[in-house]
Parts: sequence; C-alpha cells; structure tokens
Amino acid sequence: LAIDGFFLAIGHNPNTEIFKGQVDLDAQGYVVVSGGSTATSVPGVFAAGDVADPHYQQAISAAGTGCRAALDAERFIMESQS
Ligand SMILES: Cc1cc2nc3c(=O)[nH]c(=O)nc-3n(C[C@H](O)[C@H](O)[C@H](O)COP(=O)(O)OP(=O)(O)OC[C@H]3O[C@@H](n4cnc5c(N)ncnc54)[C@H](O)[C@@H]3O)c2cc1C
Repeated sequence: LAIDGFFLAIGHNPNTEIFKGQVDLDAQGYVVVSGGSTATSVPGVFAAGDVADPHYQQAISAAGTGCRAALDAERFIMESQS
C-alpha cells in the first residue's frame, strides 16, 4: 500500500470491557463516578485515570485522580472500621 503518511489513533476507547456488569459504565464505556469523588456504583471500589475521565485525559489529571482515589479508599476503610 503506497502511502505518504500514517497516523495511528489510540487511546480513544476506554479499556473497561472487564468491568462491564461489575460497576456502572456510561454509554461510551467510561466508569461512572459519583459527584466530585472517585466512588463507583460499588461501595469500596474507586476509579481513577482515563477510564473515568471522558473530558481531560491527560497524564497529570489521571495522576491527580489516582491520589484522590487513594484518599477515598483510605477514608472508606477507616469509616468501615469505626
Ligand atoms: C497517543 C497519546 C498521546 C498522549 N499525549 C499526552 C501528552 O502529551 N500529555 C499528557 O498529559 N497526556 C497525554 N496522553 C494521555 C495520557 O497518556 C493518559 O491520560 C494517561 O496515561 C492516563 O493514565 P491512566 O493511568 O489513567 O491510564 P493508562 O496510562 O492507560 O494506564 C492503564 C494501565 O492499565 C493496564 N491495563 C489495562 N487493562 C488491564 C488489565 N485487564 N489488567 C491489568 N492491567 C491492565 C494498561 O496496560 C496500562 O498500563 C496521551 C495519550 C495518548 C494515547
């Protein structure tokens, strides 16, 4: 195939197939999180990064939600024990 250029588009579909039926996904397959938190439809399960972010999808915002998910998980564990 004679071509002058090739542009491979990757990263446009969330890789969430394995979570189908486990946590709520939106129509595009992104993990649904409630409000401004990282909480999914399953208590104690938190989502971070591009799988839960159809808007920004940048390394720094993914890392930020990773931090938030860790704090949400810690809080969930602490509250479960009290
Ligand atoms: C072509 C391209 C260019 C980009 N350029 C920029 C840029 O210039 N600046 C910027 O800030 N962002 C950029 N981004 C976006 C950035 O890469 C992402 O926002 C960021 O990597 C998201 O981090 P994440 O941890 O959510 O997901 P990912 O980095 O995708 O990490 C997910 C990880 O989960 C693993 N995984 C998947 N399924 C499974 C499974 N079943 N079991 C175990 N592991 C699994 C994957 O292998 C992967 O390592 C770009 C993205 C693309 C595709």
